[in-house]
Amino acid sequence: MPGANDRTRTDDLLITNELLYQLSYIGRQEAALETPRSKNAENNPESRPVSIDRLKTRLARIKDLHAAAAVLDWDQETYMPSGGTEARARQLATLQELAHELFTSDETGSLLDGARPGTEIDADLVRVVREDFDRARRVPSDLVARFARETSLAREGWQKARSDNDFRRFAPHLGTIVALCIERAEALGYPEHRYDALVEEYEKGMTTAELRRVFGDLRTRLVPIVQAMAAAPPIDDRVLFRAYPVDAQRGLTETILAQIGYDFSRGRQDVSAHPFTTSFSIDDVRVTTRFDGRFFPSAFFGSLHEAGHGMYEQGIDRALEGTPLADGTSLGMHESQSRLWENLVGRSLPFWEGRFADLRAAFPEATSDQTPQSFWRAVNRVQPSCIRVEADEVTYNLHIMLRFELETRLVEGSLAVKDVPEAWNAAMEDYLGIRPPNDADGCLQDIHWSSGILGYFPTYALGNLASVQLWNAAVRDLGDLDDAVRRGDFGPLLAWMREHVHRWGRRRTAGRILEASTGSGLDASPWLGYVRRKYGELYATAL
Ligand code: ZN
Repeated sequence: MPGANDRTRTDDLLITNELLYQLSYIGRQEAALETPRSKNAENNPESRPVSIDRLKTRLARIKDLHAAAAVLDWDQETYMPSGGTEARARQLATLQELAHELFTSDETGSLLDGARPGTEIDADLVRVVREDFDRARRVPSDLVARFARETSLAREGWQKARSDNDFRRFAPHLGTIVALCIERAEALGYPEHRYDALVEEYEKGMTTAELRRVFGDLRTRLVPIVQAMAAAPPIDDRVLFRAYPVDAQRGLTETILAQIGYDFSRGRQDVSAHPFTTSFSIDDVRVTTRFDGRFFPSAFFGSLHEAGHGMYEQGIDRALEGTPLADGTSLGMHESQSRLWENLVGRSLPFWEGRFADLRAAFPEATSDQTPQSFWRAVNRVQPSCIRVEADEVTYNLHIMLRFELETRLVEGSLAVKDVPEAWNAAMEDYLGIRPPNDADGCLQDIHWSSGILGYFPTYALGNLASVQLWNAAVRDLGDLDDAVRRGDFGPLLAWMREHVHRWGRRRTAGRILEASTGSGLDASPWLGYVRRKYGELYATAL
């Protein structure tokens, strides 16, 4: 039987187009940096009131370039032969460079200055684009270029350090990355904490202070729950490691995705090494998955997860098509949708009571000795482990707390890079009661830092917390959903998410969506209540 380390789970990095550009800015573009930065649009004599239509036309062209780049990127991850790598990198860079130039040009500034929105949607559009524009122009080009250069070196350094299990090889790179992130934060500006500027990139409106409040509360109450579960008899999940023929897995995931409401006439599922969701328009939103013939959860829950992301994108108001508003509002809100379908729905008992016949038909041998109850138990096994992407629903957030604390300390200067491994291991022991056997399974496991991405991790936990807040609000409005989930009637739940979350696109921030739909701000209590109820029953122990 493969060990826990063979488990895989969706670990998708969703990055905004503009940030993607800034992170992937490579040597080829450096010549362009010789050109002096253009003047601020406010001082531009050509700035004058113009119809918002010209702004929209320009934004639509930029969006088209991003969409074309996304198609090329999707192709690279799914079907492109490996020989195409070099040309594809060039093609992507060209499109991203064009989009960036169009967006950050004085002309866009003038159009923004002159835009006179006549509708609420247009007013939201101008506000959001103005924020994006100002942010994109605040990061100096030379910093963007240095960032790209250093992260490309750091990525290599990280890969070597991880395979040699030697943090010292990565430490100088991490030092540089942290310094560049600090420089970036200073250029962007922030209300209180440097880290605010980095979080803002992924979770607009979220602050370090708010994260500390919510995560502090979560950590204090979650650690004893994990300890109690670790002391309870473990759940037997060996059934998940039997033979699950890939063709049958493909058929089952497609059936289930169609059942929950992922629209295959406006999407498709393909295979990639790392599952992800990508959108070319509201009517073409694609997901990918990966199949492991000897581990059931990999494709099944990965597909549900990505379909959750995909249904969010498919559910955006058509009136926003072709504008920067036609996108998920934040990574945390995006993750709330993927987690809702993966965990709240897909790992629930009613779901397996209803879907068990399909499972049985697809895998008669592997599941011959199973009941809905036993299979439900198996897919909900909790076990503290060192690797974040393999973590279960309960322990996952603790992996995030740890990274959040280390990142904020690095950025505020209260933790030296050389002390990261020890700080990491000590926190693992505190939170999960285990110590990584080496740095490869500890502080070297994630790709994020080597890619210059600090401030991203919190969004994973925000998504988990928000998923339960939104689920509870849907139950409040629709009544108990267990029967509907058992019957396979997911329409009302999806319609609720469409109404309260999806359709808004970026018109509302995650905080506002949560407030308006649940009546409260971000709160760890609903998620903790859910965990206590569900896992108290699974582990037959009071949590
Ligand atoms: Zn996700």
